[in-house]
Amino acid sequence: MLSYQHAYHAGNFADVHKHLTLYAVMDYLLRKRTAITYVDTHAGRGLYPLDAQETQRLQEYREGIWPVWQARAGVRDSLLNAWQAALSSAQPVPEALTHYPGSPWWLSYSLREQDQLRLFELHPGEHEQLSTQGLSPHAQRVFGDGLTGLTAMLPVTSPRLCVLIDPSYERKVEYQEVAEAVAYTLNKARHGVVLIWYPLLPAGHHHTLLSSLKESGIRKIWRSELLLREPGEQAHGMFGSGMLVINPPWGWMNAWQR
Ligand code: SAM
Repeated sequence: MLSYQHAYHAGNFADVHKHLTLYAVMDYLLRKRTAITYVDTHAGRGLYPLDAQETQRLQEYREGIWPVWQARAGVRDSLLNAWQAALSSAQPVPEALTHYPGSPWWLSYSLREQDQLRLFELHPGEHEQLSTQGLSPHAQRVFGDGLTGLTAMLPVTSPRLCVLIDPSYERKVEYQEVAEAVAYTLNKARHGVVLIWYPLLPAGHHHTLLSSLKESGIRKIWRSELLLREPGEQAHGMFGSGMLVINPPWGWMNAWQR
């Protein structure tokens, strides 16, 4: 039984961290013409009106996209500017932030004629809502388990593969399942680019994911962690957001390494 619904968290700091990283990776990948198959293993519903009852309950976007949007006029960074322009194009009224787009929208936004996108979602209600979103004709929505669906697709026919893995981690075993699915994926698609989001929680479950990935011999891993609060400041709840980019595109490490 799936209880997680992303609408409660839409537009929070972790979404900004994740979608900005995704957008930046795509920006690098799109510099070459060769076709890409994108896979979103945990797609969610695709677009989130900020005034929805679920989103209003926690209003997490107030510590996420809201301050970023408010500060947009003073931004000098070209990547952030392009990302904000894309975000603006997702709004019914471009200058008013009323909707936050999820990963299916961000992936679909930059899809070219030669690319394909497969979106997996296992929650029937979320999948149904995703099915109503206006996405690229190259986006295929699948009701089913994302990691099983991903491994069943491999190897893909396109020269390049880019995967986003963004589970809700409702089950602790998901950290291990993600690591196993990634090892399998890279066995079938050695140069595949894989993005993984994970929460930073006081229990530190993400260490299972990080150590399993290392043990499977993956060498090129870029890691970014964004802290909303100091670790230990509160006993429960997410204090930060983590992103991994495995096999980052050419040029990425030089640009984003610290
Ligand atoms: N990637 C989305 C975005 O960035 O907008 C948010 C995804 S949300 C964190 C996780 C989603 O995974 C939920 O919609 C949940 O219903 C779905 N889900 C949970 N288990 C799944 C599974 N085994 N396969 C596919 N989807 C699953």
